[in-house]
Amino acid sequence: MIPNSQSSRSDSNSVNTANTRTLPDFTLLGAGLVGSLLAVYLRKRGYQVDMYEQRPDPRLKGAYAGRSINLALSARGIESLKNVGVDQDVLRTGMPMKGRTMHSTSGVTTYQPYGKKGEHIYSVSRGGLNQTLMSLAEQEGARLHFEQRCTQVDPPNKRIYMEQHHEPTAHSIFYKRLIGTDGAYSALRDYLMRSDRFDYSQDYLPHGYKELTIPPKSDGSFALSPDSLHIWPRGTYMMIALPNPDHTFTCTLFFPFDGNPSFSSLKDPSDIHHFFQQQFPDALVLMPKLVDEYLRNPTSSLVTVRCTPWHLGSDHLLMGDAAHAIVPFYGQGMNCGFEDVRVFDQLIDAHREDWNQIFPEFGALRKANTDAIADLAKANFIEMRDKVADPEFLLRKRIEARINEQYPNRWTPLYSMVTFRPDIPYHIALQKGKMQDVWMDQLMEQGNWHRDFGTPAMDEAIARGMETYNEGV
Ligand SMILES: Cc1cc2nc3c(=O)[nH]c(=O)nc-3n(C[C@H](O)[C@H](O)[C@H](O)COP(=O)(O)OP(=O)(O)OC[C@H]3O[C@@H](n4cnc5c(N)ncnc54)[C@H](O)[C@@H]3O)c2cc1C
Repeated sequence: MIPNSQSSRSDSNSVNTANTRTLPDFTLLGAGLVGSLLAVYLRKRGYQVDMYEQRPDPRLKGAYAGRSINLALSARGIESLKNVGVDQDVLRTGMPMKGRTMHSTSGVTTYQPYGKKGEHIYSVSRGGLNQTLMSLAEQEGARLHFEQRCTQVDPPNKRIYMEQHHEPTAHSIFYKRLIGTDGAYSALRDYLMRSDRFDYSQDYLPHGYKELTIPPKSDGSFALSPDSLHIWPRGTYMMIALPNPDHTFTCTLFFPFDGNPSFSSLKDPSDIHHFFQQQFPDALVLMPKLVDEYLRNPTSSLVTVRCTPWHLGSDHLLMGDAAHAIVPFYGQGMNCGFEDVRVFDQLIDAHREDWNQIFPEFGALRKANTDAIADLAKANFIEMRDKVADPEFLLRKRIEARINEQYPNRWTPLYSMVTFRPDIPYHIALQKGKMQDVWMDQLMEQGNWHRDFGTPAMDEAIARGMETYNEGV
């Protein structure tokens, strides 16, 4: 679908003018993961797109490559990439993770598959994926402007103020329609927060995170099994590791900021070494640069942002982390942002480009879902750092997998609904998950399933329960 010919004119070099005929149809703030994918979707519809990014172009020679940081990509994100034909390119370089491997303090490991055979998530490079999407956006005709930091948004005059790298004075740019894909600390959201009847909350976890590395073994092979997400659950904190194609693992230590132990108590090199020796001994032997990295790499915070409405009139909209930043424990922040883009695209068809309907309906449709995944992500921190070390919890997960095998159309475990079923909205997954919890509590009381796992007695108890089981949502 092509927008009207006036608004799709490509002679929009003179963006510093209020003459809306020469302005691009969409101005996007932030060329991160969500902004870059949105630019591709909008260009495929023929809209003119200009995108402003505060960082330098990461694709240029000499650009700071940064550390190798990865993300878990799953079905919701893949579905959105598929619509613009980049899913296979991205997955080719991704590392499939079929389950999670838990490491105890004595080095004993336990494995739990993520789903059924063939269901897995992918560890992908954050930088690589962002660059792929930026390049695709450019190939499709979007104009990317780097080293342009938006310092202020002025909706009444449809104008953004930008600070350009190496230039002392700020300049301004007019826009026709502005979408804030500028992440958890969005400049557009900053403006909305000061406007009437805008609800906003942010809450920080008492934990922060620090990225560390497990390099390849001396023969160049992976130091841990590469088809797993590895977890060292330690009750109130944890470390995880995801594989990279270069045979390294990126580890993330999620650790309290304060107290003992915490980032503030653990600063001395010998204390750091000693702590890892006590808590993560099997990882420590694989981390020759641990102390250097621990001291050098930043400690970052973890925030949940909720707000509403996400639009201002029919020409300002928030999307991705700018609208709903969540903590990373379900591996869904980016996947959810990519789902935003797909839903927005569907609404353009449903409302035939009537932005007066599309912008409010987008937020109305998405908010219940992004609130649900925010809650699920927080709950999953407790599951990952604590429960996965509990044999009772692991038994429960095995039983759920068995129920799913026997009743595939009536019971899908919560993790699978969230991760492998884009057709189930997050808020429905959350409701069904709560009902499953109640049902499982009852089943667990009916027998000694550690001893009788897989016996006819267990299957009969499940069958009896399923006679009355009704998720009802
Ligand atoms: C430790 C950690 C692990 C995670 N793991 C996963 C995972 O496994 N799976 C998953 O799905 N999600 C994960 N996430 C979440 C994921 O990173 C985010 O949800 C995702 O990056 C959101 O994309 P975005 O484009 O909305 O925002 P961002 O990726 O933050 O992009 C925003 C862009 O806007 C630019 N920008 C910001 N302000 C301005 C400004 N004023 N002017 C111009 N440009 C600006 C930024 O430079 C950036 O490029 C993780 C997050 C964290 C913190």
